[in-house]
Amino acid sequence: VTDPSDDPECIFCAIARHRTPARIIGETERTVDFLDISPLTPGHALVIPKAHTVDLLSCPEADLAAVAMAAQRLAGVMLPALGADGVNLLHSTGAAAWQTVWHFHVHVLPRYHDDGLPLPFRRVPGDPAELNRQAERLRAARGGPNRKL
Ligand code: 5GP
Ligand code: ZN
Repeated sequence: VTDPSDDPECIFCAIARHRTPARIIGETERTVDFLDISPLTPGHALVIPKAHTVDLLSCPEADLAAVAMAAQRLAGVMLPALGADGVNLLHSTGAAAWQTVWHFHVHVLPRYHDDGLPLPFRRVPGDPAELNRQAERLRAARGGPNRKL
């Protein structure tokens, strides 16, 4: 029987189904969290839905909610368990946004006062007219009220 939520070519599908070794930290019915193999800081972990989906936009809402809750749970243990001083949640959709693995994942990145990770950007206040234009475009595209979960 083939599982339609399993992409046989996908490394994270293989990790989620225990076909490939990974340092799994925990699982839920819908999610797995495991250590990133190239950690940016000690304890750097990833949370994925078990069902294959490429990115934030393709992820079904129930899996997205489950990933968000698993990320919160993991973030909550990093401070006491690792002595972390903070946590970044990081996600990339698309190559332009640095995505390199095409199975949706959220990085849960423990941060330490002395970890030396540099900010990857410089903040410059936006031009007010340009900010207004972007807000208008987004409001128009976004449309009406929020969907309920
Ligand atoms: P992205 O660049 O797509 O946001 O993140 C992909 C992450 O997956 C990278 O941080 C990379 O180190 C991690 N990664 C890639 N292949 C593997 C693997 O086979 N096992 C584990 N544990 N992490 C991986
Ligand atoms: Zn996959």
